[in-house]
Amino acid sequence: MNANQVMTEIEGKCRSRGLRLTPTRRRVLELVMAADGPVKAYDLLDDLKRERPGAAPPTIYRALDFLLENHFIHRLESLNAFVSCIHPQHQHQGQFLICEQCQTVLEIHDHDLADALTETAHRHGFIAKHQVLEIYGCCQACGEASD
Ligand SMILES: [Zn+2]
Ligand SMILES: [Zn+2]
Repeated sequence: MNANQVMTEIEGKCRSRGLRLTPTRRRVLELVMAADGPVKAYDLLDDLKRERPGAAPPTIYRALDFLLENHFIHRLESLNAFVSCIHPQHQHQGQFLICEQCQTVLEIHDHDLADALTETAHRHGFIAKHQVLEIYGCCQACGEASD
């Protein structure tokens, strides 16, 4: 899905669920999608301030909360940063391959993997609600470059 398709998908979801994609929420979503990789809240605030000098941290955090709650973006816990979602059609767990060299983040989307983790947790009597899988290493491009 390209950025336009993702936005159209999200607009449709908001309409059908009665969610309000306010101009600020929409703009923050666009900024996350436009970012070349994971983006931090204060970088988003800087971007927003350039357009709206009155923008304050709560503006950003409220918008990010809305986007996270509705699974329109993901949060990378280890980096404390946000990435857009490649599959906003349906809710899913975040699974990411993070390159330590170029910081590229690739979202993988493996239901079997998520189910396996939930199942493993279950065997320990644990009810898994939310999981974020962040795998660090070297991406294909960086691997080829160092050959
Ligand atoms: Zn996703
Ligand atoms: Zn890389």
